[in-house]
Amino acid sequence: MAVLDLRRKLAILSDAAKYDASCASSGTSRRDSRGGKGVGSSGPGMGICHAYAPDGRCISLLKILLTNYCIYDCAYCVNRVSSNVPRARFTVQEVVDLTLNFYKRNYIEGLFLSSGIIRSGDYTMEEMVRVVRALRLDRDFRGYIHLKLIPEASPALTAEAALYADRVSINIELPRDDSLARLAPDKDVAGIRRTMGEVRLGIDERSEKGRRVRAPRFAPAGQSTQMIVGADEAADGEILARSETLYGAYRLRRVYYSAFSPIPDATARLPLQRPPMMREHRLYQADWLLRFYGFSRDELIGRAENLDLAIDPKLAWALRHRDRFPVDVNRADREMLLRTPGLGVRTVDRLLAMRRQRRLRLEDVRRLCGGVGKVTPFIVAADWSPLALADAEHPVAPEPRQLSLF
Ligand code: SF4
Repeated sequence: MAVLDLRRKLAILSDAAKYDASCASSGTSRRDSRGGKGVGSSGPGMGICHAYAPDGRCISLLKILLTNYCIYDCAYCVNRVSSNVPRARFTVQEVVDLTLNFYKRNYIEGLFLSSGIIRSGDYTMEEMVRVVRALRLDRDFRGYIHLKLIPEASPALTAEAALYADRVSINIELPRDDSLARLAPDKDVAGIRRTMGEVRLGIDERSEKGRRVRAPRFAPAGQSTQMIVGADEAADGEILARSETLYGAYRLRRVYYSAFSPIPDATARLPLQRPPMMREHRLYQADWLLRFYGFSRDELIGRAENLDLAIDPKLAWALRHRDRFPVDVNRADREMLLRTPGLGVRTVDRLLAMRRQRRLRLEDVRRLCGGVGKVTPFIVAADWSPLALADAEHPVAPEPRQLSLF
């Protein structure tokens, strides 16, 4: 095997990590190095999710694989054992040194570490834990760490990983279990769920109120997962139903959606084209509505349906429920205001606070929203009432489209 220099390894292993979408840092606990203690800091809500590019651009999170060797053969993955790509592997010490050196040069604010499976789940997880253990315990690194868990690893290794990482994640990969069995035969859906369950229990235990003895630190930024969109036939409704279950059963902080991208030498079981990026975007919008706007999946979309690519899912819902609009911004409850197109969570909360002082006019809404183009057909204010929502006049109804013949 050829010996690769560090720069070459970095080029290969940062490129191999780019398919992993799940790397946001929001919601972790605050650590810092004020007073000369430790290296780095990690404040809540930073939202860093960039990756290192070999050409030196835009580095916020060093996002790499420990190795892109893998003994598994997941059909959708460029790192599968049967793939003909250049391979590389970092040593534990190399990842520790890279993270600290990049941090000190102000290139990054943390580390996102994933890996192909080498030898076994336990062996791979142990190697990754060695990296984060060395960073936290030996080098007192206080920056953000997102660690990908290996579902086949032992619960003890999972718990140790969660001790050092801010966020952990396990990829559910595909929305359908039978697709996973078909396209990733080495993966074990039950093992993925079991590990997500272990993480949830650890987080619950850590945050249990009234504990007399403080539980050890356990993934303070929670757990997340990633689903590939468009590699199988699952409709958006099915994808969101899976997300809804994951949020409920494992209290995930986030499900990331990653549009399938065709890979070299792919099997005929995979599509030749990637789905439109807008599909991924609409799924994120719908996911947001599930988590923060009080919608349930079946209100937004049937299991076998796809989201409308032409309009966002909240507007689509409003147009299907015209009888519930316009809503009076001076009287409507929070739930209904959140369902109004053009009103976001922060705007609604500020609007509720402001209307305790006075009756709101359209200008107040305009100032809160930074514009009212989208919201005016759906609201009544002290000095504003829209015309009835009729398709012919409605400024937000989607344009008629010619269907494709092919
Ligand atoms: S386990 Fe599957 S998805 Fe993960 S690196 Fe290996 S082949 Fe790719």
